Amino acid sequence: MAYKITDACVNCGACASECPVNCISQGDSIYVIDADACIDCGNCANVCPVGAPVQE
Ligand code: SF4
Ligand code: SF4
Repeated sequence: MAYKITDACVNCGACASECPVNCISQGDSIYVIDADACIDCGNCANVCPVGAPVQE
């Protein structure tokens, strides 16, 4: 299952540069993951300071 970024996101941007398939981008209010491209590596969850990315 793909990862999803929850409302806990504080827009630090740390996750986007760690994604191996570049499927994280800045959305209207928080960062968003393209679920179709996510390969479930977990990098975003590991680097996020607030635990915003969760596996659905
Ligand atoms: Fe990118 Fe990996 Fe996070 Fe999926 S789990 S959004 S592939 S860093
Ligand atoms: Fe949001 Fe976490 Fe990504 Fe920072 S690392 S942009 S807080 S999801």
